[in-house]
Amino acid sequence: MVYEKNQLLTVEITDMTADGEGIGKVDGYPFFIKDAIIGDQARIRVTRAKKNYGYGRLEKVLMPSPFRIDAKCSFHRQCGGCQLQAMSYERQLQFKEDKVKNNLIRIGGFASEFLDKVMEPIVEMENPFHYRNKALYPIGTGRDGKSIAGFYAGRSHNIIANTDCSLGVYENKEILEIILSYMRENHVSAYDEATGQGLVRHVLVRKGFQSGEIMVCLVLNAKSGRKNSDFLPGQAGLVNSLSKVNGIAGISVSINREHTNVIMGKEIHTIWGKKSIQDTIFIRNVEDDFAATGQGITFSISPLSFYQVNPVQTEKLYSLALSYAEISGKETVWDLYCGIGTISLFLASNAKQIYGVEIVPQAIDDAKQNAIQNDIKNAQFFVGSAEEIFPEKYANDGIRADVVVVDPPRKGCDRTCLETILKMAPERIVYVSCDSATLARDLCILCEDTYEIKRMRAVDMFPMTVHVETIVLLTHKSLRESKRWVCEKHCQDA
Ligand code: SAH
Repeated sequence: MVYEKNQLLTVEITDMTADGEGIGKVDGYPFFIKDAIIGDQARIRVTRAKKNYGYGRLEKVLMPSPFRIDAKCSFHRQCGGCQLQAMSYERQLQFKEDKVKNNLIRIGGFASEFLDKVMEPIVEMENPFHYRNKALYPIGTGRDGKSIAGFYAGRSHNIIANTDCSLGVYENKEILEIILSYMRENHVSAYDEATGQGLVRHVLVRKGFQSGEIMVCLVLNAKSGRKNSDFLPGQAGLVNSLSKVNGIAGISVSINREHTNVIMGKEIHTIWGKKSIQDTIFIRNVEDDFAATGQGITFSISPLSFYQVNPVQTEKLYSLALSYAEISGKETVWDLYCGIGTISLFLASNAKQIYGVEIVPQAIDDAKQNAIQNDIKNAQFFVGSAEEIFPEKYANDGIRADVVVVDPPRKGCDRTCLETILKMAPERIVYVSCDSATLARDLCILCEDTYEIKRMRAVDMFPMTVHVETIVLLTHKSLRESKRWVCEKHCQDA
């Protein structure tokens, strides 16, 4: 059967892709349908039909799935952000556990029964909205010529005006409204990607949930400037209005004149208040349903530094990292891709010595400052790429570790890092991953001969989206005495 564009069909959604699209088959021919949920009976309009599969647009839900709920945000279908908002939270959690497990089976070659033994239940979030401490809003020009702030429509750079995202903090709306009215009153133009003209590109808002401190950074297509110069016309008026918002601790500008998708420019100028905000992350008791322990670490975070976006779940993730690392006080630990030193400093009080490496210089400045302000003396930080610094410190300075923690970006660990870990042979590896596909690829390499998965757990750091964090404890096979699990491809010597 050949399907035609615009043809209307009725399908039952029987599965979902890792990106959250529904899959429905018509006479064995699969269609991928954005916004359709497993269990839906739907009318779809064919948008593309290839030889073996096609795409459809959800026209009408004929019979809703038992997992379908009313989405909180009226923009959820247009926006690329919340792919799962119309699905019950319980079903989202199952979707994420399945996603991690399937990637480990498909890409990593691990056996399903083995994973059932080592995977602990996903760590869920009690209130899964308004959890993001950071928002990056693109600024553009609406049809009426007025400046707008919003989000990119899925798979495009068309901005849809909405200052009230249901994942962000409530202050975002107030801050954006101030900036937009300032732009209108002062005839300040929004950046236009097509022409490269216009001044204001993006607005970054970040809030410390514990401290209540907020930073605002305007990304500008402006000339490099000097300290204390004005980057915006009528800057004093804008600063005056923004500084009155409850919690505002610092206002900065980032200069970005490049025609790229990279949002933040490297040149940052503080135009009011503090350079960075503070936030505290508390250690939680993983054995007692993540109950608070009262012990915490306070971090400084500057605009260019990475900081986990969901602070409520981050406390649980880092507490799991601390528990998985099983540190007794004698261990040397490497923290690769350490950001502002969050995991390093979480582990420092229990370890003999911590070494951290991170590629963004401002993040390492923050990490050093964070060690000082928390009175931690056994942590040393290096700026550079993990794939250069880590092998070099091992080969030239003989720095070895008992425990290696890795928390790489989505592309996963560099091959050189994995090879150095295998040579160094630490007793334990704690792998924190925001992409289970690259995690599976890397685990396949680490578990080929030397390591085995001892424990693992998905953590829902990004409710309403298809993204999921995973934490894995790997132990060195010859350095471990406990019982071996049997799996097909790995641990064949069990
Ligand atoms: N562990 C930190 C940061 C994790 S995010 C935390 O939980 O906050 C990943 C970090 O890796 C980012 O800070 C990013 O800047 C850094 N990074 C990306 N590529 C890198 C590389 N090749 N070498 C070292 N760090 C890198």
